[in-house]
Amino acid sequence: MPFDQRVTSAPPPSGTSPPAPRTSSRDPRPGLSGLSPAELAGWFDEHGEPRYRVRQVSDALWRAMAGSADELRTLPSPLRYELERDFRLDTMSSTDLRLGDGSQTEKALHTLSDGALVESVLMHYPARPGRRERHTLCISSQAGCAVGCPFCATGELGFTRDLEAAEMLDQVRHAARRLGASGKRLTNVVFMGMGEPLLNLDLVLAAIQALSDPERFGLGARHITVSTSGVVPGMQRLTALGPQFTLAVSLHAARDPLRDVLVPLNRRWPVAEVVAAARDHARATGRRISYEVTMISGVNDTDADARAMADLLRGDHAHVNLIPMNPVAHTPWEASPMPVIEGFAGVLRGAGIATTVRRNRGQEIGAACGQLAAERGAQPTAPVVLRRRERLLAESAAALRGERDRRPLAAGVGD
Ligand code: SAH
Ligand code: SF4
Repeated sequence: MPFDQRVTSAPPPSGTSPPAPRTSSRDPRPGLSGLSPAELAGWFDEHGEPRYRVRQVSDALWRAMAGSADELRTLPSPLRYELERDFRLDTMSSTDLRLGDGSQTEKALHTLSDGALVESVLMHYPARPGRRERHTLCISSQAGCAVGCPFCATGELGFTRDLEAAEMLDQVRHAARRLGASGKRLTNVVFMGMGEPLLNLDLVLAAIQALSDPERFGLGARHITVSTSGVVPGMQRLTALGPQFTLAVSLHAARDPLRDVLVPLNRRWPVAEVVAAARDHARATGRRISYEVTMISGVNDTDADARAMADLLRGDHAHVNLIPMNPVAHTPWEASPMPVIEGFAGVLRGAGIATTVRRNRGQEIGAACGQLAAERGAQPTAPVVLRRRERLLAESAAALRGERDRRPLAAGVGD
């Protein structure tokens, strides 16, 4: 089978999920989809093959979404197998699919060659007046994440490793292939799955180049969004590059004491620096900044927080998305009630800030990023979970009183 995909329509009953795959050594062959056209041309030159082979491989990868050497039908078979000897046609060893929201959300759990797990989520949005139907894929840029936001399942997993460009692109090719089977096309890609894209920026940019290259995936830059928790030097680098895609910033709180708790990276780059970098980006690219706020009941949804956010963003070319927190294991928190979110939105709109209240997708299939991978991993013991919950309650209560958390960040984060 070209792409190894299993489909389940509902989560397996608890206690029956397969054991977490053991991390093994990585397949040393690079993923073929991550090669630039020049690198691919170089390989064919070395093998004394004509240049038109590049186009043949590129068409197989990006039109037919080929996942195995057998599918490179335009190539003579010895050449197919030489390619396969040097490269992986598909960097996913296997993929489990779960469908939710009446099949409007498809969550894929991919196992990579070394056993690392990453997730991608495909969301279908039917056409509505004035808007065509959309098929948006949310992809991962790292296995795990070092930032450690406490409401995020990926944050709890910790960091495993950066993904290769091909490992990001193959998430896209898998989804495009599934969509293509029913005559549909992927319309948007968002880097909002597992990981902090700006801490793997070189490879994320290489993946974006392939996605937006008309000769490869051919997705307009306006249909690509990268979300960051606020890695200021990465944001500045993107500003220098000019408009490449939409930048979304995970804001969550406008006050430092609270943002220190919700986005630990805030202790390295405080909220004022993040917003200043976002402003510079908007000014230099002419593109509106999108701010994401995960709404957590009694934690960041108070009137004082709404007013602080309104003061911080007043006058900016910005758009705020308020998203109720997806339930995740091992937190003491839950989503803010809808009327509270609407009230928060009202304060922002009153300050002239464009604000949208989003509904979260795919709760019954664990669509919060990192949730499926977390379920597969070793589970913390009950006392560990209890201590984590108590610590988070104490930290968020202190933050509401305006006290700052001065603990250092984990090694390697925000260096
Ligand atoms: N690391 C990047 C991109 C991946 S996270 C970032 O933080 O921006 C993508 C988005 O999912 C972020 O806005 C994050 O805050 C949000 N998110 C994580 N866990 C969530 C949860 N339990 N409920 C709702 N949104 C969540
Ligand atoms: Fe990492 Fe983003 Fe999750 Fe924070 S919300 S832990 S930055 S993936």
